[in-house]
Amino acid sequence: MTAIARRGVCLVISAPSGAGKSTIANALRASEPRLSHSVSVTTRQSRPGEHEGVHYHFRSMETFREMARKGELLEWAEVFGRGYGTPRAPVEAALAGGRDMVFDIDWQGHRQLRAALPEDVVSLFVLPPSLAELERRLHSRASDDPAEIERRMAAARDEISHWAEFDHVIVNDELDRAVNAARSILIAARLETVRQTGLAQMVASFAPHVVG
Ligand code: 5GP
Repeated sequence: MTAIARRGVCLVISAPSGAGKSTIANALRASEPRLSHSVSVTTRQSRPGEHEGVHYHFRSMETFREMARKGELLEWAEVFGRGYGTPRAPVEAALAGGRDMVFDIDWQGHRQLRAALPEDVVSLFVLPPSLAELERRLHSRASDDPAEIERRMAAARDEISHWAEFDHVIVNDELDRAVNAARSILIAARLETVRQTGLAQMVASFAPHVVG
């Protein structure tokens, strides 16, 4: 297939903790080799199995605030009393190069990213089938203690209250179906007319063959 120049898609996936957004994002990346993950900066401690520069850039609050002050973060927010933010440079490079990026950020990040990149953001909210199921999933995560789970359930209700701000919403009751739906959203976003910047040139080259 001919590669036609286009701008990249910023696919924002938000959800309450435990709804399965990381699993969906990982599955998407596994099947879409050119889809990269925006690695956020955070001031929280790394959890077992998380690696610097892969899951997050782990930084002190001082460094985080300095990055925000210098405009090096496209958006940033404090979640659970810790700083989270999206580094600007990799996103701008990806968009200009026609590469797509997936963002695992919260509703505040979505609002700010949408304001910063109004034509590039396509957003998806993942809902759990029920709050009881969400709580069950959080309990099965060994890394979070009960106080943390309680905090996350309260934060989950808050996150869910923003579901209607998103372009698309998926209820994650069956992972395969949710991943397929997310993939369809990405494919449709790539095909949006405004994003296909190389099309005008291609269509212009048809003109000599048009009889009329
Ligand atoms: P966790 O600590 O479980 O990795 O993430 C906690 C919350 O912070 C999640 O809702 C996640 O989506 C959000 N988050 C992670 N990175 C960013 C970011 O760069 N910006 C914003 N606004 N939220 C983020």
